[in-house]
Amino acid sequence: MITLETTDIKAIINQQQDFFQTGKTKDVNFRLTQLKILKQLVIENKEAVKEALKADLCKSEFETYATEIGVIKEIDYAIKNIKNWAKPKKAAVPWDFFNYSAKIYPEPLGVVLIIGPWNYPFQLIISPLVGAISAGNCSILKPSEIAPHTANLVSQLISKYFPPEYIKVIEGGVETSQKLLAEKFDHIFFTGGTAIGKIVMAAAAKHLTPVTLELGGKSPCIVDSQINLEHTIKRIIWGKFINAGQTCIAPDYLLVDKKIKADLVQSLKKCIQEFYGENPEISPDFPRIISQKHFDRLTKFLNCGEIIAGGETNSETFYIAPTLLDNVSFTDAVMEEEIFGPILPIIEYTDIEEAINLINSKPKPLALYIFSDDKNLQQKILQETSSGGVCINDTIMQVGISSLPFGGVGDSGIGSYHGKAGFDTFSHDKSVLKNTFLFDLNWRYAPYKGKLSLLKKIIGG
Ligand code: NAD
Repeated sequence: MITLETTDIKAIINQQQDFFQTGKTKDVNFRLTQLKILKQLVIENKEAVKEALKADLCKSEFETYATEIGVIKEIDYAIKNIKNWAKPKKAAVPWDFFNYSAKIYPEPLGVVLIIGPWNYPFQLIISPLVGAISAGNCSILKPSEIAPHTANLVSQLISKYFPPEYIKVIEGGVETSQKLLAEKFDHIFFTGGTAIGKIVMAAAAKHLTPVTLELGGKSPCIVDSQINLEHTIKRIIWGKFINAGQTCIAPDYLLVDKKIKADLVQSLKKCIQEFYGENPEISPDFPRIISQKHFDRLTKFLNCGEIIAGGETNSETFYIAPTLLDNVSFTDAVMEEEIFGPILPIIEYTDIEEAINLINSKPKPLALYIFSDDKNLQQKILQETSSGGVCINDTIMQVGISSLPFGGVGDSGIGSYHGKAGFDTFSHDKSVLKNTFLFDLNWRYAPYKGKLSLLKKIIGG
């Protein structure tokens, strides 16, 4: 990895600004071609992506396919819809503007910066890039240094398939990120933790650069008594332990109706065994924690409450078993920050109001999960809580629907992407109003004498 100096970074930005000025990226056919090249990049390098993720996170081939290479679906969706998204859209005009026509022209922003995290290090760089390409921008990508094999692969692949004046990867850690953030971009798209999100936004403010912040948080999972137990536990265990819990929208903790807690706990334990065997450490399907820092952070949480399943660790391989915690209180360390690992606290409630109040006492989460067949209860929770998104009777799957905007609210983020939302994030909606030369109405011009009564009629009130 070559660490770039500020002068090199400025040169790359200048080069991209010059390329953007040629207007090539504004051509919708150019964008379409680039999306097809991006798809080819993913398809032709599936093996290399798999190897990189194995090295960084010990990810199984299945999970790599489902959650990283699966970005192909997002590219396909953009390929299918881009011509429609990019078209100017007619806007309605009121009757007193009858001589005007109004249109909204989506236009690209220019040179954008995309900063990625380490947990889905391929998908979370490529997916925002789909939006940036679709909208007609040039992009600088900064993958996470914490997943070095994937960062290096992304860098090699992007430089093989795209010219640097159009898309360029800049590898590096915090220092590189800071050097990039000191420069002026036309948009910054950041995925990562809430604390770093604040640093990114402060840096962007110096240049009045708009930001999209895809952050994290504690996503609660409410489990009511009216459920299909078997389906519920499978969907929870899968969503929590995929990528060893290192998923921004993983159910962070369970809020369970007291009446079914004992049954649920028994079934959850059984399901962990069914999925990962007696000893998940030797399961080919269970990943590892990314780094020593995160391993140490997570093992401290094992001192909270009571371990009722799992709890085993291996400091040499950064293994932490799928773990269930009982008797956890809301003031325990594990409930004070996003867990982001394979530890699932189970908290009981007697009345749904109690669960809703607990959720509302914390910052707004990225995702909220409801397991219940009771439509009134579903509606009540939807109405009385706020979160980036909600998934009812399942986990994680909401992220796979390109027509649903994906993003947080409050502490879990600003803005959204995926599908049209990604196109919009990287576009400016330029409003264009056109008058006619065929005639001119005199009512607004001075002298105003005798014209006020007509104005009052037009405005009303
Ligand atoms: P992070 O915030 O530590 O790092 C993200 C990126 O920011 C990296 O590229 C890193 O180099 C850079 N960075 C780190 N410190 C910086 C600093 N001081 N100044 C400038 N740049 C800096 O996040 P992470 O640990 O890679 O990812 C985990 C977090 O990301 C979790 O909170 C998770 O919920 C969140 N996340 C959110 C989403 C989402 O779509 N909303 C997706 C994945 C992860």
